[in-house]
Amino acid sequence: MYINKKKICHIENLKLIRLKLSFHSFGNVSIRINENQFTIKPSGVDLYKSGYKKYPIIDINNKNKIQNNLKPSVDTEIHRQIYLSDKKIKSIAHSHCIYATSFSQASLNIPILGTTHADYFSDKILITKKLSKTEVNKNYEHNIGKSIIQCIKKNKKNFNNTRAILLNNHGPFTWGYEYEEAVKNMEILEYISLLAFKTLTLNKRPKIHKFLIDKHFNRKHGKKSYYGQ
Ligand SMILES: [Zn+2]
Repeated sequence: MYINKKKICHIENLKLIRLKLSFHSFGNVSIRINENQFTIKPSGVDLYKSGYKKYPIIDINNKNKIQNNLKPSVDTEIHRQIYLSDKKIKSIAHSHCIYATSFSQASLNIPILGTTHADYFSDKILITKKLSKTEVNKNYEHNIGKSIIQCIKKNKKNFNNTRAILLNNHGPFTWGYEYEEAVKNMEILEYISLLAFKTLTLNKRPKIHKFLIDKHFNRKHGKKSYYGQ
């Protein structure tokens, strides 16, 4: 069942490794199958040997309803919370890519420092709050999912205008409205994280005008977009 979506999911998981965004097995991609289900990278298998036919299928409304033999990724509950929050999201990715993860570990947002960032993201990349001891010890992955939703709401954003977030002390999550978009957003996020890291080593307080940020974001994503290179 749903062989096509599982195949897409497998290809996107392999892409995360090929793009060097996923070191060893520290990463996972999921793909929405329909309104009520998604498929995700299985846990603890060699993706090159496993193939995609046994990819687990998760019920978005019932976390205990899992189909297929392979155990889903440990982060499945975080993915489920995101799919539950926005019915139009088609793909989600998580990785421990070096530069975005460095900002996570430093507990820092990624500020907009240049037009490359503004071409893809209209604002800084947000970072979630630190979880309490109770939140870590009980229902950890569920609480991570909740912390993502809270962070977006608290900053008066939504999943559509915030397609990447940093988990405090951990690493990034990205998502998208097309099947290939989550991994693509992860690749872009890692690139702008690298640029931000290098920029901040040259100048601790670089300035960019808001009107330049808006110009770059809107010419590519606004109602009157005209961007092409
Ligand atoms: Zn992780």
